[in-house]
Amino acid sequence: MTWHTKTIKELATSLQAKEISSQELATLFLNRISSVPELNAFVDLNEEQTMREAKFADEQLAKGSQPLLMGVPVAHKDVFVTKHWKTTAGSKILTNYISPFDAHVVAELGTNGAGMVCLGKVNMDEFAMGSTNESSYAGAAKNPWNIDRVPGGSSGGSAIAVAAGLSPAATGTDTGGSIRQPASLCGITGIKPTYGKVSRFGMIAYASSLDQAGPMAKTAEDCAIMLNVMAGHDAKDSTSLDKAKEDYTKNLGKTWTGEAGLSLKGLRVGLPKEYFGDGLSSDVRKAVESAIEQFKKMGAECVPVTLPKTELSIPVYYVIAPAEASSNLSRFDGVRYGRRAEKYDDLLDMYKRSRSEGFGAEVKRRIMIGTYVLSHGYYDAYYLKAQRIRRIIAQDFQNAFESCDIIAGPVAPTVAGKVGEKVSDPTQMYLEDIYTLSPNLAGLPAMSMPCGFGDNEMPVGIQLIGNYFAEAKLLQVAHAYQLETDWHKAQSPFAKKGGL
Ligand code: GLN
Repeated sequence: MTWHTKTIKELATSLQAKEISSQELATLFLNRISSVPELNAFVDLNEEQTMREAKFADEQLAKGSQPLLMGVPVAHKDVFVTKHWKTTAGSKILTNYISPFDAHVVAELGTNGAGMVCLGKVNMDEFAMGSTNESSYAGAAKNPWNIDRVPGGSSGGSAIAVAAGLSPAATGTDTGGSIRQPASLCGITGIKPTYGKVSRFGMIAYASSLDQAGPMAKTAEDCAIMLNVMAGHDAKDSTSLDKAKEDYTKNLGKTWTGEAGLSLKGLRVGLPKEYFGDGLSSDVRKAVESAIEQFKKMGAECVPVTLPKTELSIPVYYVIAPAEASSNLSRFDGVRYGRRAEKYDDLLDMYKRSRSEGFGAEVKRRIMIGTYVLSHGYYDAYYLKAQRIRRIIAQDFQNAFESCDIIAGPVAPTVAGKVGEKVSDPTQMYLEDIYTLSPNLAGLPAMSMPCGFGDNEMPVGIQLIGNYFAEAKLLQVAHAYQLETDWHKAQSPFAKKGGL
């Protein structure tokens, strides 16, 4: 039986029907994880705890009707703090850190919530800064479609875990594309909800006004099921939206006008001309355009829209995100948080050495940019200006949504590059984020789902962007597409390995 190729929906059904136990599933996935260390997907395992959680789930399942996700395995990005696994956020400065509590998302999904079983923590770029998962202190993680290529970042480990059949689902976070980009590059589905939908409590902060957690899985339906648990008000996060819980599966299998069926008649898909310009490689363009053709075939109407400030999203984001990061990362000083340098002369020297030794190059680069743009004399010229343009970017989306219901375009300009190709050229790496940054700057929901293959037979994702709180609509469109096409079913060579 190829259990590792199943969706969480299928696994949940099999668990409830007692066709397999949660302990059997956990063992199967833990074996798969330890059989592929070359992917470097997992950074911490605690098999005893995983089995304890699976045993608990089996006991609950034996009692009868249980929450849908009871006993289904999940992997958590190492940015969520966990009581039973180390949390490093991909940084040396948090070596061996164990949190006294679980992040909100971890708790909601786990034993005291929906009953998912945690398989372990997965690799990520250091403090979620990166687009390739190469800045991790645990080393680069590798793409299961081609081990010489990057999985995308920063939630690289999460995308690998799903694409290689090491976990049926994973959590991720997205500050400027970190759920969508690795999902696209590894051929899986992932959604970044509206800012404030998912609590950031216990999620190590990168850029607080942009950070948002979301699910990564094989299908839009799986993402909807997980988001049902992850989203919701949490008093412990002051930016958590005080809105009633929503059922993100409610539109699945319905036509755009609300009847049963898959027709997208009535749906207006906006195509921003800035997302299909010169920077987009022809292989990615082809795959994305074929998905758009499919939408049309299903009845959708495509309308040209414009997001004129798209190009400015890179300088604006790379001012605002480092500014917030420089402030958020000040707590890692060897006293409040973080590994302390072993040798030092005095207090100031201790701070300097602890931070110099503990942070990697990309993090240091961003702290320096951040403190610079916030410093007296430069604040108005950089930070304030960036905030003003951020507002215009958000307004541009509102203008576009006057003539369309959702926006579609590419996730990244190219398919996954080779490991090591871009590490020495950070500005080149930042350009990879051109299509993903604006939704974060505006706080909008956006997702990626597989829509074909590009050069070197690497996966390509299409991005769908919605207006505020349009998650259920995005997932509805994606689900209809996935019922009509098979791209999301394509298996990476690593997923095909070992039909355990
Ligand atoms: N690549 C972007 C950055 O490095 C986005 C990362 C993210 O979404 N966490 O900041």
